Amino acid sequence: MTRRAAITGYPVAHSRSPLIHGYWLKRHGLDGTYERVAVEPATAETFYREFAKSGLVGCNVTVPHKEVAAACCDVLDDAAQAMGAANTLWLDDNGRLMGANTDGLGFLGNLDQNAPGWVGRCDTALVLGAGGAARAIVWALVSRGVKKVLVANRTLSKAQDFADRFAPVAKAVSWDYLADILGRSDLVVNTTSLGMEGQPPLDLDLSPLPVDALVSDIVYAPLVTPLLQAAHDRGNPTVDGLGMLLHQAVPGFERWFGVRPEVDEALRNLVLADLGVAS
Ligand code: NAP
Repeated sequence: MTRRAAITGYPVAHSRSPLIHGYWLKRHGLDGTYERVAVEPATAETFYREFAKSGLVGCNVTVPHKEVAAACCDVLDDAAQAMGAANTLWLDDNGRLMGANTDGLGFLGNLDQNAPGWVGRCDTALVLGAGGAARAIVWALVSRGVKKVLVANRTLSKAQDFADRFAPVAKAVSWDYLADILGRSDLVVNTTSLGMEGQPPLDLDLSPLPVDALVSDIVYAPLVTPLLQAAHDRGNPTVDGLGMLLHQAVPGFERWFGVRPEVDEALRNLVLADLGVAS
């Protein structure tokens, strides 16, 4: 029987997930579909609580339903528990609704693919921003064994709120001390929306940063953000944000369709073309 999965959220029209999963379904010749299911906020709790009635084997969850979806799951993985938010759901053999948060795994998968061995060279990571994506990335860095994860955010209290949950490895730091912190960072990750198309660039003087420190930006439109360009120009290795989007989709596809898919160049080019972003 055809296995059906979907992106659920409100709205869902903008999502690139159907393109990504559609590519893998075709590549592996599987009898499956990946659809868009708009779930109106007023019906979200009922939809996830009664997920088995949807006829789907599982789904991705996007804004604004990640928290309500997590609350409706019978079992959550460590990441979803730590974040109180789930982006990947599936029914297990006993009909229980299982929830995972794969954004952090997507971030790690991207670095592993594009900067192999990075973790062995990373004692101190600096995460800029304290929104939903930052949370997933701090969880990922802590779970991978990075010794110190410093979180700087425009609104310091937001960084403090969640850095405390990952203490003592994670610690909130003031934006005013970034020059000093950059001087002892092995990895810098921008998770703010600065640098995204239509947003001002992230204004950061990289001169104190060691030239072998890895710089990553999770913004992927544009693909080369002003931060990545500045880092590249001074000789730092860089990793763009598109791979995180692609790798976060891998665990869901494997759960629903039974094949672990590859993030390859053809997929990357397909999504770049759809985004209208130059490679
Ligand atoms: P979010 O929860 O809205 O958080 C936004 C963050 O950006 C906050 O830390 C906010 O600081 C900061 N910020 C916004 N405007 C700022 C400004 N003018 N100056 C300084 N800081 C500013 O968003 P999110 O979901 O974490 O997403 C953040 C970015 O990551 C977006 O561009 C999104 O597209 C991208 N993203 C990429 C992937 C991927 O797969 N590559 C996945 C998720 C997200 P305050 O707390 O002070 O407001």
